[in-house]
Amino acid sequence: MTTLTAAPAYPNHVEPPDPIEGRRLSGVHWWDPDRIHHLEDMPHFCPHCGAELGTGIAVEYWQADERVYHTWCHGCGWTGDIIRVHRMVGFEAADD
Ligand SMILES: [Zn+2]
Repeated sequence: MTTLTAAPAYPNHVEPPDPIEGRRLSGVHWWDPDRIHHLEDMPHFCPHCGAELGTGIAVEYWQADERVYHTWCHGCGWTGDIIRVHRMVGFEAADD
């Protein structure tokens, strides 16, 4: 009589050697400055309704030298691009 046994959940799983040679899992990385700028500049609130974007989306992409955050608000459904302005040049209406 043949006895059936359950197969392991992951029969091909192999534990990696510890520590993994040449692989740094913590500490300073070359991408840290860009990651930090991303987190600092990322919009946190919807410009339309003011809700937190915690459940929305703020995806960064580049347009020439400008960083653009394509943003979607879960609260009101607003979608748009947000660009940080370093200098705004406008006009002032004349006093009457
Ligand atoms: Zn909103």
